[in-house]
Amino acid sequence: MIDNVEHKRVTPPFVDRHLRCIDCNSEFLFSAEEKNYFYDKNFYYPKRCPSCREARKRNHPPTTSEVLEPGSSLNPHNNHQGAQQ
Ligand SMILES: [Zn+2]
Repeated sequence: MIDNVEHKRVTPPFVDRHLRCIDCNSEFLFSAEEKNYFYDKNFYYPKRCPSCREARKRNHPPTTSEVLEPGSSLNPHNNHQGAQQ
């Protein structure tokens, strides 16, 4: 019996997904883990690849409109490299 086929999911499954960066126009992988984070915060998909996000953070100080890009706080497992300033 496969009765859950008729069951429509309300939330999309969290899978790895390729997105296109609006800055360098290259595809980057938006991992399910990141997606989960964004979704949890009611964020949308990131518009830039991680490297462009890093570059932007260096060139521009974060503004309120940049809240969509959580940046390095995504990965608490990563070594904290925000202690430069
Ligand atoms: Zn990019």
